[in-house]
Amino acid sequence: MSRQCLFLGSNWKMNKTVSEAVTYISELLDLLSRGPDLGSTRVFVIPPFTAIQAVKALAGGKIWVGAQNMHWAESGAYTGEISPPMLQELGVDLVELGHAERRQHFNETDTAVNLKVISALHYNLRPLICVGESQEDKEYVVEKETVGRQLRISLRDVPPGRSGNIIIAYEPFWAIGHDRMTADVDHIRMMSQHIRAVLEDLFGNAGGSIPVIYGGDVNGSNALRILIDGGVDGLFVGRAAWEAPAFASLIQACIEVARNSA
Ligand code: PEP
Repeated sequence: MSRQCLFLGSNWKMNKTVSEAVTYISELLDLLSRGPDLGSTRVFVIPPFTAIQAVKALAGGKIWVGAQNMHWAESGAYTGEISPPMLQELGVDLVELGHAERRQHFNETDTAVNLKVISALHYNLRPLICVGESQEDKEYVVEKETVGRQLRISLRDVPPGRSGNIIIAYEPFWAIGHDRMTADVDHIRMMSQHIRAVLEDLFGNAGGSIPVIYGGDVNGSNALRILIDGGVDGLFVGRAAWEAPAFASLIQACIEVARNSA
């Protein structure tokens, strides 16, 4: 862990009504206000679209608020989709693109992610791009090729000067969600180094400063180890952050570790 900013975020997936979201954020803000100063730690949550406005109003800039997906077009006949200007108007701080569940259940492809990345940057929305290999890729030892391909396609035609707005989340598909395996910290380090090498190849020195965070069964017992030895700039947490006290203690423990290793 050697980076300037520590990112700690949670994707809520299809969970929490507006009132549940409001209760959660109020509790999280209260707990964080009683702990160490966030300093250069960037905490973010990614609620369902329906709760973004309420969460954003409460978060008041202390916590970044993101969207879980976005269409690339400005408007049009795309029933059920949400456009970049709609997110821009809500003031979202980031937009998550290419999550494993979108790839798996909604056939989201790297080329679609690429259209979304270009559009997000055009609208000054910060893309959080999820990449990760399947269980089969890992078994056949082609995880680097898979993730490299995802990055090269998703990031095609990103103007060099705009790469500073991007965040990459490395999330191996086989580690996400319940009943999955937990990634070994050596594997996470190997893949985070590979991701940085691809980013440098694409964007030169600027590529080396793109934050790379890890997600996939992060919880209270493995978070610090991943942060210390995984070569990442932060953690992206699902289930283990859906209760405010659990996320608050994870954040506070990570801040302590980051301070002690600075
Ligand atoms: C995720 O879906 O992005 C995720 C990291 O989930 P979990 O932490 O629950 O494995």
